[in-house]
Parts: sequence; C-alpha cells; structure tokens
Amino acid sequence: MEHELQSLEAEARKCLHDLTDEGQLEEFRIRFLGRKGSFSTIMRQLGTVPAEDRPRVGQLANTIKAEIEKLFEAKKNTLDAAISGASDRQTPDLTLPGRVPAGGRLHPITQVMRETCTIFENLGFSVAEGPDVELDYYNFEALNIPAHHPARDMHDTFYISDSVLLRTHTSPMQARIMEVQQPPLRVIAPGKVYRCDSDITHTPMFHQVEGFLVDKNISFADLKGVLTVFTRKMFEKELPLRFRPSFFPFTEPSAEVDIACVMCGGSGCRVCKKTGWLEILGSGMIDPEVFKKVGYDPEVYSGFAFGLGIERIAMLKYGIDDIRLFYENDQRFLSQF
Ligand SMILES: [Zn+2]
Repeated sequence: MEHELQSLEAEARKCLHDLTDEGQLEEFRIRFLGRKGSFSTIMRQLGTVPAEDRPRVGQLANTIKAEIEKLFEAKKNTLDAAISGASDRQTPDLTLPGRVPAGGRLHPITQVMRETCTIFENLGFSVAEGPDVELDYYNFEALNIPAHHPARDMHDTFYISDSVLLRTHTSPMQARIMEVQQPPLRVIAPGKVYRCDSDITHTPMFHQVEGFLVDKNISFADLKGVLTVFTRKMFEKELPLRFRPSFFPFTEPSAEVDIACVMCGGSGCRVCKKTGWLEILGSGMIDPEVFKKVGYDPEVYSGFAFGLGIERIAMLKYGIDDIRLFYENDQRFLSQF
C-alpha cells in the first residue's frame, strides 16, 4: 500500500505539472482530491493494513495528501494570475462605437426663468435680485399689507421670527428698489419664494418673476401691451389675453390675467376645465399707498406691477400636469428638455 501511495503521488505531480487550464484543474481535483477520488479510495483500504503498520502508513498517506493539496493551490493561483494578466494585455477593439458622454443640461425651471428674463430684458427691463430671507416690512408692510390684514392669510407664511420670514412673493423687490431709485423704473425681480403649501399644483418653494414699471402717464394699456408681448414670445403663438378683476393690497385696480388655453386654443379641454382660459399671473396698477411709503408722489407717477409663477408657465408651455415632477430629479423627465 505504501508503494501504491508513492506511485499515486508521482502521477498526481505529473498531472498537475502538465495541466494548462481551469477545466483540467477541476478534473484533477475530482480525480485525486474529491470524495470519490484516488486518495479517498486508498484511505478507505487502510483497514486492510496489518495493525502494527497502520500508524506509519496512515501518517504517510496524510503527508502525501497534504503535499498534493499544497501543489494544487499553488497551481490554481498561477492559472488565475495568468488569466487576469491575459485580459489586461488585450488590445482595445478600435472598431467599437464610441460612448457618448452624458451631457448636462439646464433644469426646465431654469430654462423658463432665463427665457422670461430675456423677453423682459429685450423690452428694456433690468434684472434685480433680492434676499430669500426677508423682513416682514418689505414682504407685507411696505406693500400695503399691515399686521392683521386679512390678505396675510392668503400667504401661508414661513416665519423665522416675528419680523423675519421667507418671502412669500418677489414683490418685496418693488419696495426695495423704489426706496433707493427714482422713476422711470423698469425692473424684473426673479427668484425663489416660499409658502407652507404642497399638492399637485403647489410646492413649498417655487419661482416667481416680479415685474414693475413706474413713470409718468403709465396706464393699464401699457400693462396689457407688455404682457401681450410676453405671452406671444413665451408660448410662440398669438394667444388672446383676458383681464379678470381681482384684489391685491398693493395694486389698484388689480387683475388676474388669463390666456386662451394653450392646449385646446380656447374650445375647452381637461387642462382648462372646459373654460378655454388659463390663469397665468396677477397684476395691477401700483397702489398709491405703496408709492407714498417710498416717497414717490402718486399725483406725478403711476405704474404697473405683475407677478408670474415660473412653474405655472413651464407646466403650460410643456404640458406638464404635476408640479412635483420638477423637483423629483428623475433623469427620464429632465432629459426631455
Ligand atoms: Zn383647454
């Protein structure tokens, strides 16, 4: 039996030395080291060896098996290294089509915001930006909304302290600009605004563009003219405008402005709730009280102001029915713009 073990060892060494791939390695493992392999078979015959020889033969068998296992591991490592080395050396396939780098693009809200600013800049408006964290004074008081005025309820304000808040509209820029500049003024103020409100048409943060124009002899006709140009440029078609009487504390008279439905052209559909009209902004002639607070003489100057919701415009322009899509950052949605 000792002789059998020694010839098995010699055979195993030769096989290991000759094999060249992982398949042969596995065959080797099954043939020599597996549960039904040659070594196991010999070990099972250990019982037939005379008792006095058994310890010596057993020890020899264990030593030889351990030695073969060690050689097997070494061979396995050599083969693995050869395989990974070979793949490193592979030459690149120059006929493969190139990968197009993923290009970044502007968020649809940013695009519509910039487009809006460009339209008004072309009409001679300058752009001014103000703070998101605003004083109660500019957000409300200066706009003719004193403490306890019912209009404050419409705003669902995030207060930081009694006198500091997150601005609920971009209108505070009217007061900030008029305080430090004299007419004539043509200004738009784009930016983020905040209200404690969230559903498919409202988000707690959204974007507005405030616009106002102050000069001598400014009338409602000027407001209508400017907004007509804006809607034509933004929606790239002639859309009838409709002014509906409304109320804002800082304009008098005030009007909400509708455009003919961009989806159905005015015949009535789901988007316009069968009315044929879509509300796009609030506007009006600046209230004399606002002028008095900044020291303008309302007998000399007049002006108009309007506030556009950028999300609203983007939804109408692109036919989007859920405002929250803008903020989910789903690449499948964003890559369409
Ligand atoms: Zn419609």
